[in-house]
Amino acid sequence: MALAATPASGDQARGAPPHLIFIPSAGMGHIHPFSRFIAALASQGAVDISVVIALPTVSEAEADHFTALFAAFPAIRRIDFNLLPLDDATLAGTDPFLLRWESLRRSAHLLGPLIAGAAPRASAIVTDITLASQVIPVAKNELRLPCHILFISCATMMSFLAYFPTYVDGANTDHLAGDVDVPGIGHLPVDYPPQVLRDPDNLFTKQFFSNGREIAEADGILLNTFDALEPEALAALRDGKVVSGFPPVFAVGPLKSTSTEKEAVHGGASSPIAWLDEQPARSVVYVAFGNRNAAALEQIHEIGAGLEASGCRFLWVVKTTVVDREDTAELNDVLDDGFLGRVHGRGLVIKEWVDQEAVLRHPAVGLYVSHCGWNSVTESAACGVPMLAWPMTLGDQRLVATVIRSAGFGLWLEHWSWDRESSLVRAAEIAEKVKAVMGDEAISARAKEVGREATKAVAPGGSSHRSMQEFLATLK
Ligand code: UDP
Repeated sequence: MALAATPASGDQARGAPPHLIFIPSAGMGHIHPFSRFIAALASQGAVDISVVIALPTVSEAEADHFTALFAAFPAIRRIDFNLLPLDDATLAGTDPFLLRWESLRRSAHLLGPLIAGAAPRASAIVTDITLASQVIPVAKNELRLPCHILFISCATMMSFLAYFPTYVDGANTDHLAGDVDVPGIGHLPVDYPPQVLRDPDNLFTKQFFSNGREIAEADGILLNTFDALEPEALAALRDGKVVSGFPPVFAVGPLKSTSTEKEAVHGGASSPIAWLDEQPARSVVYVAFGNRNAAALEQIHEIGAGLEASGCRFLWVVKTTVVDREDTAELNDVLDDGFLGRVHGRGLVIKEWVDQEAVLRHPAVGLYVSHCGWNSVTESAACGVPMLAWPMTLGDQRLVATVIRSAGFGLWLEHWSWDRESSLVRAAEIAEKVKAVMGDEAISARAKEVGREATKAVAPGGSSHRSMQEFLATLK
């Protein structure tokens, strides 16, 4: 096992900055908040930072991402972590990222000696929720270090996760078997939480359950959200309504993207900014469904026809395969014959990676039609862009959509699903709703207000800024 940092020679020198060890998980939706939080801390220079990098590499996109982060912040140390081979026939056919989480979890006991040898001596660990139940015991029992969780989703989802074991015990079951009333959050119909939790044998369900049980043992929960966006959920967690004795909650968002993300995608990236520059203010509908969410061909055709019929200008990022950024299908193979010609000038369709934050920040963008990944929602909120929520059902996206709805900066049509033929969303309805939200003054005004609140939150004296200072104070 390679250790890039020099072995420890003793305790942290008096007056030396705290040394934070980050243990990220896998998947760009998990990596982005980590690199954004790390970059924010590294720019302040208040802490020493090491990042544990799991080997072998899971995807080129992630490897490039970390390479760019280390290049931009040479003071950040890298600790290589060789994973044990995952030799388990029962896991055949499992999603590669879920497998990666399992692999990290099964290798977590090796982190003890690795981190014990870090220099300067570690002050605390920050890890991902997918690893919580394995890393928290290593940190606390073996290394005697505080362990914080940097959560990648919203406070509402954190509340659900933390409450899930109580629900399961009370309902005498081992999976999501009905509606859930989360104290302080409210009634969640059975189809809001991740639907995969209905299957007790699914690896995700097992991981989710044990991470939920362990979460109360963490020393702090860092959330990429802000008080004005999720006031009720944050209060419920902080007041111990969801789970009594819940760890301190630090809402430090919205986390800003870093220049390293752009460097990491350089080459494969497409830049629609020049095209956006030519469009009138607030005239363009941005349509994108995340990194790993491939739509069925038939749904892609309906989306295209809907955008065409809406009469609006649009920028549409099309994904057809479920692999981070590695999409081999040609646009002409997936779009209707003649579509690109018909929408030429008012519609731009791309399949490459885009700098999404730059798109959302652009004054020409007036609406974001989204799958409701939390990073995307915080980016849209921060940029004051209204949303048309079209959440996936497998993960946290429907709970995320509840945040858009309660914060009032978008529309969520609950019957819009991604469950293939049975519930195809037709072009006429897409066109109608796109036009409706584009013309909705109240939603637009609320989105601008949310954007202003986001800016205020991270400015000196703002709620997220203060939360960050409070978190740093715990490390001293
Ligand atoms: N993203 C991007 N360009 C793309 C696709 C995605 O910059 O072409 C970024 C997006 O800005 C966000 C992240 O990738 O920060 C996606 O995370 P999210 O939680 O929204 O969704 P996921 O893809 O993980 O479901």
